[in-house]
Amino acid sequence: MDISAWIERHAAYAPAKTAIAFAGREIAYAEFAAEIEQLAAALAHELGIGRGARIAILAYNRPEYLALLFACARLGAILVPLNWRLAPPEHAYILDNAGVAAVFCDAEFRAGLESIGGVLGDAHRIGFGFSGSGWRGYGALVEAAAGRDASRVGGPDDPILIVYTSGTTGHPKGAVLTQSALLWNAINSTAMHDLVSTDRVLTFLPMFHVGGLNIQTLPALHAGATVLLQPRFVPAEALAAIAQQRPTVTLLVPAVMKAMIEHPDWSRTDLSSLRIAGAGSSIVPIELIRAFHARGVPICQIYGSTETGPTAIVLRREDAMRKEGSTGTPALHCEIRIVDDQGRDVSRGQRGEILVRGGNVMTGYWRDPEATAAALKDGWFHTGDIGHQDEEGFYWIDERKKDMIISGGENIYPAELETVLAACPDIAEAAVVARPDPKWGEVPVAVVVPRPGASIDAAAVKALFVGRLAKFKHPHDVVFVDSLPRNVMSKVLRYKLRELVAGVQKPTA
Ligand code: AMP
Repeated sequence: MDISAWIERHAAYAPAKTAIAFAGREIAYAEFAAEIEQLAAALAHELGIGRGARIAILAYNRPEYLALLFACARLGAILVPLNWRLAPPEHAYILDNAGVAAVFCDAEFRAGLESIGGVLGDAHRIGFGFSGSGWRGYGALVEAAAGRDASRVGGPDDPILIVYTSGTTGHPKGAVLTQSALLWNAINSTAMHDLVSTDRVLTFLPMFHVGGLNIQTLPALHAGATVLLQPRFVPAEALAAIAQQRPTVTLLVPAVMKAMIEHPDWSRTDLSSLRIAGAGSSIVPIELIRAFHARGVPICQIYGSTETGPTAIVLRREDAMRKEGSTGTPALHCEIRIVDDQGRDVSRGQRGEILVRGGNVMTGYWRDPEATAAALKDGWFHTGDIGHQDEEGFYWIDERKKDMIISGGENIYPAELETVLAACPDIAEAAVVARPDPKWGEVPVAVVVPRPGASIDAAAVKALFVGRLAKFKHPHDVVFVDSLPRNVMSKVLRYKLRELVAGVQKPTA
């Protein structure tokens, strides 16, 4: 059975129930199922899409995004969501690597795609709300297949998504997720959120990322619930949607949490419909969690990556308040290990690399057997994240493995130093990275963005650590910058910081 059957079943159980609410329009399950079927017929008969073909989509969140995913599932085809924050040359790399037979695009991104048109070759070009000059309108495409059937050839083992990871180093890699991985992910997520058909799930995070698509949106459609879809995150609109559309569940990332909390509407927005808000994508600062807890909304972390679907470690509602900062326990159908550099399981309390195994994990990286072999061993995905379990068995994420600094044989976890820096009112943001050192191998260096108007020097930064952390962990140097380099997903690009501090050899104090 392919996963588009989820929608058909709910269309049979509750045809008039709203599957997706978008821009004032309510799409019932029966209507959504019919659109998927007709779109699948259009893909097959009008565009010649068959099993294994790749279709790219470059669009803000819209119902057709989800229709396209389920239509691909029916045909055994594969959707390649493109991150609209990337630049055209980055899209070109992905389109070339994935080898797409068709691309679906919002008007907003048309010019960008046309600027790299060569890489598309003779791939079909479909416009959401526009046509002409080689582009076919989405509406006309679907209309052309009216009354025609699409064969059902997709199944659980067929890849359904290639999601290119945001990549904090080098080129992006395409994680291949099968239909069955999405099912296991949905089951994990349903258990974590206690999702039921009466839930209303608010999605504003981008669906080009496994977070926006797989943590709550697809699981909600699997559960027969209603998805309240927004094109993208706009703080005022997200807060208004919470007040007016009364979602029971939503998903956040730290930058979104911060933007909401700092928005003038925050304190007067009624958040009482939310029984749970998920959060993840990077370490979630405790003060952001507490701001939501103070408003009675439990923040339930999800830990995982593109390669794990992502739902791997989850914090459930009953533990959210008392375990602030923890990512929780393994998802229902997911195994987790923490191992040392020799691959041996560490004892509770000790730090090591987190490994994930389960039906939700990718089958590999698209056309990259070498990277696949390095990341997946005996079914265990090596996350590159360092974490530990506390005495109750809850997991805490400490660091990226490659971010760890080894100085004179001692491990230094940048997060420990960054916590000290974050607490200083004169510092807007900061990160700590390694600089090669002839004596110690590596030494920690703090990269600091001072708060506007603050006057803080290197000596004052170094003084923050005295008496708080062991001397070998103290930063040997401080480099001041205007902002930290980040990738499109707002993750700090530490390799750029390492290059920066390696180039600034003269101590600033
Ligand atoms: P991506 O594949 O872009 O989703 O990035 C996955 C990475 O994000 C993981 O390997 C972690 O480093 C980080 N991450 C995701 N969720 C969490 C979380 N809840 N806490 C800490 N780090 C996280």
